[in-house]
Amino acid sequence: MASRTVNDLDVSGRRVFVRVDFNVPIKNGVISDDTRIQASLPTIRLLLEKGATVILASHLGRPKGKPNPEYSLRPIADRLSEHLGRPVHFAEDCIGERARAAVDKAGTGGVVLLENLRFHAEEEKNDAGFAKELASLADVYVNDAFGSAHRAHASTEGIVHHVKESAAGLLMGKEVEYLGRVLEAPDRPFVAVLGGAKVSDKLEVIENMIPRLDALLIGGAMAYTFLKARGVAVGKSLVETELLDTARDVERRAQERGLRLELPVDHVVAPKLEQGAPAETLEVGDEAIGERMGLDIGPRTVDTYRAVLADAKTVIWNGPMGVFEIDAFARGTIEIARAVASVDGTTVIGGGDSIAAVAKAGVTDRITHISTGGGASLEFLGGRTLPGVEALKNR
Ligand code: AMP
Repeated sequence: MASRTVNDLDVSGRRVFVRVDFNVPIKNGVISDDTRIQASLPTIRLLLEKGATVILASHLGRPKGKPNPEYSLRPIADRLSEHLGRPVHFAEDCIGERARAAVDKAGTGGVVLLENLRFHAEEEKNDAGFAKELASLADVYVNDAFGSAHRAHASTEGIVHHVKESAAGLLMGKEVEYLGRVLEAPDRPFVAVLGGAKVSDKLEVIENMIPRLDALLIGGAMAYTFLKARGVAVGKSLVETELLDTARDVERRAQERGLRLELPVDHVVAPKLEQGAPAETLEVGDEAIGERMGLDIGPRTVDTYRAVLADAKTVIWNGPMGVFEIDAFARGTIEIARAVASVDGTTVIGGGDSIAAVAKAGVTDRITHISTGGGASLEFLGGRTLPGVEALKNR
């Protein structure tokens, strides 16, 4: 059963509680990146156009269940107000008298931002009483925080049981639509590009994707666990020794299914993971690696991966191909970003580093869907049901 979205709601004159993801980087009250605030604007604007009173709630950081000014959402109210071009009333608590007073003050058609949900330990405990208090502020519940949907918290799961109506926000709806489509009905060939630091973080995704994919391209530090499992010399590259058997098992199953699993054939190696370290490109397996580490995929690997991507009709990409934060090891990731952007089909990217890489390559606009919920998108692609998504369906 598909969940309803805000498009299906009649909210004129009604109070709508919207769970958003405003977990933005803030230091000394200054927001350094407001992408997540901007991502929620379409849902907020739509609700306002429909005549709703919009009550926004989010977590910010890890205040551990106690009020802490460092994690206050107040600076976000000001930034949001600039974006919306209208006042945003800030409530110094997310429940109780202060929350209710702010909602009353905002009046019909107004916007309220509640203080950090995690100032109450009950939020993360999914406490029923707390969920009920949140619900009592509104008539309708909308969840637009895909990035928090993998956690069953009071504001993402519990609250749904205490409101008459609930629906997915536009951002949440888009995430579920695109991620759901790649899992259930991908156009073929369907290719996944996985990279980043650890196999362990992406093992569930790999396992769940093996039966669905036509090709799996592996890069980043992750590749070295697979290479080592093949008995290849990897020097001091990052390897998860406890996963060597798992890597062999993945390769075996990929082979059985006729899935093309590609590992780097050349790489950029250096003695240390740092800016200015002397870098050299070697064939993978060349013993000359010695005590050095592999820190980026090499040009021949880029060519191979690019050729596979050129035929793809659906692509998911999560995780950089190397230590792309350092220019000397960024080329592989940037080239893959360009290759993914050139795909004539559906492209879905997740994970902060891959998102930063497409931005750095200047190709963000050419990606079909950029998934903002890092952990949540990995769990979704790993085949897990997300409590925040399920709760909306069950209503
Ligand atoms: P993840 O969060 O798992 O996607 O991992 C991202 C991190 O992996 C980035 O900070 C990269 O610098 C790092 N990374 C990618 N490739 C390598 C590599 N070959 N060796 C060490 N770290 C890497």
